[in-house]
Amino acid sequence: GFCYRMSINVFVPKFRTDEILDEIKICLDKGWSGMGFKTIEFEEKWKEFTSLQNAHFLQSNTVGLHLALHTFKKMYGWQDGDEVITTPLTFVSTNHAILYEKLKPVFADVDEYLCLSPKSIEKRITSKTKAVMFVGMGGNAGRLKAVSRICKENNLKLILDAAHMAGTKTKNIFDGAGYTTPHVGWEADVSVFSFQAVKNLPTADSGMICFKDKECDKLVRQLSWLGIDKDTFSRTSDDGKYKWKYDVPNVGFKYHGNSIMASIGLVQLKYLNEDNKKRREIATLYSELLKDVDWFKPITISHHTYQSAQHLYQGLVTNGKRDELINELTDNEIYPGVHYIDNTNYPMYDYAKGTCPKAHKYNEQLITLPIHLKMNSYDCERVVEIIKRG
Ligand SMILES: *Cc1c(COP(=O)(O)O)cnc(C)c1O
Repeated sequence: GFCYRMSINVFVPKFRTDEILDEIKICLDKGWSGMGFKTIEFEEKWKEFTSLQNAHFLQSNTVGLHLALHTFKKMYGWQDGDEVITTPLTFVSTNHAILYEKLKPVFADVDEYLCLSPKSIEKRITSKTKAVMFVGMGGNAGRLKAVSRICKENNLKLILDAAHMAGTKTKNIFDGAGYTTPHVGWEADVSVFSFQAVKNLPTADSGMICFKDKECDKLVRQLSWLGIDKDTFSRTSDDGKYKWKYDVPNVGFKYHGNSIMASIGLVQLKYLNEDNKKRREIATLYSELLKDVDWFKPITISHHTYQSAQHLYQGLVTNGKRDELINELTDNEIYPGVHYIDNTNYPMYDYAKGTCPKAHKYNEQLITLPIHLKMNSYDCERVVEIIKRG
C-alpha cells in the first residue's frame, strides 16, 4: 500500500493559531502594537507563572544577555577587560554578549549535564572575575545551586542564560510555609529567557529579562528604550502638562519588545506546562527505546532537584561515528541537530582552545534527536530504528 513518510525535523513549533490571531486582533483594533499594553500584560503573567520578582519583555534573549551585562557593568563599575566565566558549549549569543560589553569570556569546562562544572568555575576565578554566565542546557539545571553558592561566596554576579528553561521547575523546596515548586531563575541575579521561534515558548522573536534587584529592573527598562526616562517629568507634572518631555540620562538601546509578540506569548504561555510534559514523555520514550544501545548515552538530567523543560533530547555517540550517524539519519529524512559546536572552534574564542577537555570531547560526540510537539511514538521508533542500524 501507499506509505507516505514525513520528514522529522529537530524542532517544529506548535502555535495555537486562532487564539493567537484573536489576541493580536485586540492590539490592531485598539491601535496599540508597540511597547506597553500587551507587553505589560505578558510581563505580569510571566511573573505570576515563575514567581520571579521582576520581568521585562525584550526583542530576544540575545539582547537580554547584552543588557544584563551592560546593566551590571554600569551599576557596579566593572571595567573593560574584566572577566566573565562562561561555557564553550552554548549558542554563540551567550559569549558574544560578553564581547559586546568589552568584557573577557573565560571558558570553564562542563560536567556530565553539559552545564558548567562548579569545580572548573572555582579554578577560573581571579581578581578580575565579575560574573558567571550559566547556560541551562536543554532545560536542565545541572549543578546550578552549587554554582549559585560559589557566586555568593566570591561576590560574583550569576547570569542565567535560561533560553532553554521556560517551564523548568525546582522540585520540592521547603520555604517555611510548606513545599513549593518554584520556577527556575531565583538562584541567579538575573535570568534571561528566549521565546524565539523554536524554543519551548515560541513567539517569533522575543525574550524576557528577570532581575532579582528592583533597581536593575528599573534601569534596564530605561536602557532597553534608548535610555529614555519618562518618569522624571510625569512625576513632577500632576496636571498632565510636559507629557511630551523626557530625560535621556544614558545611551541606551532599542531592545524592548512589542505587543504583537507579547500577544503570541500570552497564548503560548497557557500551554507551556502541558507542552513541556509532552516533551518529557518523548524523552522518556527515547531513553526506553535506546537503553540497549551501549554506544548511545543519553545526557542525564538533574532529576532529583529539577524538572527539566526538556527543550532538547541529547545523547553522546561514543563509538566515534557521530557524523556518520547524522548522515544516515539525514538520508532517511530525519534531521537531528548538534547543541553545540564548541565555541573555542570560532576565531574570536580560539584563545581558549584546549582549556576545556570535556567540552572539546563532547563536541565530537553530541547529537540532538528530534523533539517537538508534533511527534508521536511512531516517529520516535522510526528514529531509534535507524540509530540501531548504526
Ligand atoms: C536560542 C538561544 C539564545 C538566543 O536566543 P534569541 O532569543 O534567539 O536571541 C541564547 N542562548 C541559548 C543557549 C540559546 O539556545
